[in-house]
Amino acid sequence: MSKYIFITGGVVSSLGKGITSASIGRLLKSHGFSVNIVKCDPYINVDAGTMSPYQHGEVFVSDDGAETDLDLGYYERFLDISCSRGNNITAGQIYQSVIEKERKGLYLGQTVQVIPHITDEIKNRFTEISRGFDITIIEIGGTVGDIESLPFLEAARQMKTGKNSSDSLYIHVTLVPYLNSSDELKTKPTQHSVNKLREIGIDPDIIVTRSEKKISDEMKKKIALFCSVVSEAVIEAPDAKSIYLVPDIFKKQGLDEQIMMLLRLRTKKWDFEEWNEFTENIKKQDSFPEIRLGIAGKYTKLKDAYKSLNEAIFHSAIANRIKVKTEYIDTETDDISKVKEMDALIVPGGFGDRGIEGKIEAIRQAREKGVPFLGICLGMQCAAIEFARNVAKLKDAHSDEFKPKCKDPVVSLMPGQKNISNKGATMRLGAYDCQIKKNTLAEKIYKKNTIKERHRHRYEFNNEYRKLLSSIGLVFSGINKKHDLVEIIEYPKHPFFIAVQFHPEFRSRPLSPHPLFYSLLKAAKEKKNEAKL
Ligand code: GLN
Repeated sequence: MSKYIFITGGVVSSLGKGITSASIGRLLKSHGFSVNIVKCDPYINVDAGTMSPYQHGEVFVSDDGAETDLDLGYYERFLDISCSRGNNITAGQIYQSVIEKERKGLYLGQTVQVIPHITDEIKNRFTEISRGFDITIIEIGGTVGDIESLPFLEAARQMKTGKNSSDSLYIHVTLVPYLNSSDELKTKPTQHSVNKLREIGIDPDIIVTRSEKKISDEMKKKIALFCSVVSEAVIEAPDAKSIYLVPDIFKKQGLDEQIMMLLRLRTKKWDFEEWNEFTENIKKQDSFPEIRLGIAGKYTKLKDAYKSLNEAIFHSAIANRIKVKTEYIDTETDDISKVKEMDALIVPGGFGDRGIEGKIEAIRQAREKGVPFLGICLGMQCAAIEFARNVAKLKDAHSDEFKPKCKDPVVSLMPGQKNISNKGATMRLGAYDCQIKKNTLAEKIYKKNTIKERHRHRYEFNNEYRKLLSSIGLVFSGINKKHDLVEIIEYPKHPFFIAVQFHPEFRSRPLSPHPLFYSLLKAAKEKKNEAKL
């Protein structure tokens, strides 16, 4: 049977519980355990798909097409696993399934209540997702004290079968604020938050403290005393230079040993070498040459909106031994001619027509000036529009999404999407096969002829324009054969111009960077070197 580690948060949100959970997962995996990891989101939305990135940051997409919380991205990247629908449990899903059961009469005669019906449903989900794993980490979103997260915390409490049992462990991540005026760190909020947890019946076994300053041993002892844990169980999580250094920071404080002791587990086979190699290179990054990468998009002021994209760029930067200076170009307000100064350009995915013309213009400049370019999803659609307008001279070319009655809809809805009225989970979602054409840039990049990549979009390249655009030099180098959909386009007259209908960033991992980002940055590095000669 799987052991459970529950991770809760105290005092404030945004403490980095996701990174903490993923780092613990990485360490335990390195000890040879099979680990699964789950995010519980207390909101009523069934999934994150209908939420704007301004609410919870990027919507992460799994292979099986679930639209999830961005923490699943950390789980995949740190543990090198592929999450699925079951790895993100929302209150909306739990209520939906309890209400469905009630309507079917499965609770006939009973009053359906939060305890036990909602909590039982949550516990069933925990048990299901843990099947076949040595350890299951369950991160509970929100902050202890929130009304919404109570059923999840109650379910977590009930998972411990006895006072001294070693089947469940509770880790509380909390803030230890620093007061400038008195130059001291304060433990009181942590004490309060642990008290709140205790009121619910959870006694935390380990406290992870987030703080701007180093915590003294004295202070650790104080926290240990108030929270009834040994001082070795008070673990610091300082702001790290890179999130990928966190597993090692935890390791050095013995967090993995504490966990294994409390769960009564023994290392199976310690293997941290590859991870270590990667982090050693991160530490050297300041000595690597720098390239300038333009990202022309809409959510330029919101770091979390392009989380996976930024991580994918970072993995490939390390693999290329370069430092990437990312420069966001707001295509609605910024001067687009900045593109010409860049060593590479990415136009990422997006929804809505804000900044669309600027994106198309940015791509034109990259195409004409030989700036290495990668278009992603909406970025590919914009590349197709740009090519149709400026090379095929179809002046009115556009996407049906932004100009419904345009004369040349080079991007349009396919028949399957035309009659859809519900917005939730109705896009083309998840992993689809893509056949790669021989002797193309795509083949050179992937070194394969069939790939699988994750999608999240409604519109597609309109096949009626394939013949015309290919006759003037656009190459359709990736096709989904089953649905006859264009997945990759490229322009061989340009040194590096490729655009994809899917989101490669979701599949990049620190130890296996995605070939598209790797090759884009390699092209940027080479271009910069050539310019120097
Ligand atoms: N808005 C476009 C579509 O729905 C692109 C979506 C995206 O970039 N993820 O097709």
